[in-house]
Amino acid sequence: MARPAQALLNLDALRHNVRHARSLAPGARLMAVVKANAYGHGAVTIAKELQPAVDALAVASVDEAIELYDSGIRTPILLLEGLFEPSELEQAAQRDFWITVASEQQLAWLEQGKLTRPLQCWLKVNTGMNRLGVDSAHAPAFFERLVSCVNCAAAPVLYTHFSSADNLHSARTARQLERFAALPIDAPRSAANSAALLAWPGSHLDWVRPGYMLYGNSPLPDMHPNADALRPVMTLTSRVIALREVEAGAAVGYGGTFVSQRRSRIATIAIGYGDGYPRQAVNGTPLLINGQRARLAGRVSMDMLTADVTDLDDVQPGSEVVLWGDGLSVDEISRYAGNTIGYELTTRMPSRTPRIVSVS
Ligand SMILES: *Cc1c(COP(=O)(O)O)cnc(C)c1O
Repeated sequence: MARPAQALLNLDALRHNVRHARSLAPGARLMAVVKANAYGHGAVTIAKELQPAVDALAVASVDEAIELYDSGIRTPILLLEGLFEPSELEQAAQRDFWITVASEQQLAWLEQGKLTRPLQCWLKVNTGMNRLGVDSAHAPAFFERLVSCVNCAAAPVLYTHFSSADNLHSARTARQLERFAALPIDAPRSAANSAALLAWPGSHLDWVRPGYMLYGNSPLPDMHPNADALRPVMTLTSRVIALREVEAGAAVGYGGTFVSQRRSRIATIAIGYGDGYPRQAVNGTPLLINGQRARLAGRVSMDMLTADVTDLDDVQPGSEVVLWGDGLSVDEISRYAGNTIGYELTTRMPSRTPRIVSVS
């Protein structure tokens, strides 16, 4: 048997999540965000599956977009940070990528470029995130320059990004939406990321831009009916490779951070931080063995971790383990793993862990 640490990908779940996203914003076009290797899931696999079901894709750089283009993807791809240098203009134009314009520098490159064809431009406006985008006050002038720029295709899109849409009690989202609505610009508009698509219907506008929720996880800290319908795409699995009985008082793993309170059964599982499971996960972090909940016991090593299975029936070498995914949300795991979020856990998954498309 090959080493059993694997990330199984359920593409039925992906299609289900896209349909769900569409049903929440039926009047909007849908841009699926697949940056950072589709949040660790594998950009080409995910984008090929999404292609027929979405109106556009989005990535962080021209290199990420070229990887998709070279694999045969012809759905439009937006570069969310725009260009990092002017040489990327022609690379984008040749492949009909869509570009973000978020600064004077990027607009100047576009105006000065000699392109074979014009590019679809998305003007990014800062409405309160204060990370990327032109200030609201300057947005109308930027927009006019885009409209009159020969290298910009007709009808630029206007967009902004929320800082706090996952916080349903924050006034920031409504404030950002108000600023965005107040812009005296006649253009199609986009604001909603996953959290806004799930929880802020007033933000849906002409284009929604979900990422995380398409992978079946929720950016919202609490249960929400719109998030509960999502199904996880990635299930991180491995198998039990050893079992032992230890006496009360035995210390397990590096540093002996878990000390058994009773005679215990400890299972060793072939997965660790070298496979993307967070080393920060504390004693007691849940995992599923043969579908039953067990608890992490002892520090996570590079290639292995250990769990207390004293109260579980029928655990054997070879028993199947789910670290997150089907039946155990990565969002729950992230809460046991220090100051992180499920986004980081899937996105940091190393190439060592094979992504296997599973038939469900
Ligand atoms: C990453 C990103 C998104 C998607 O965010 P999710 O929280 O994953 O839905 C949308 N818009 C922009 C500009 C982004 O950078």
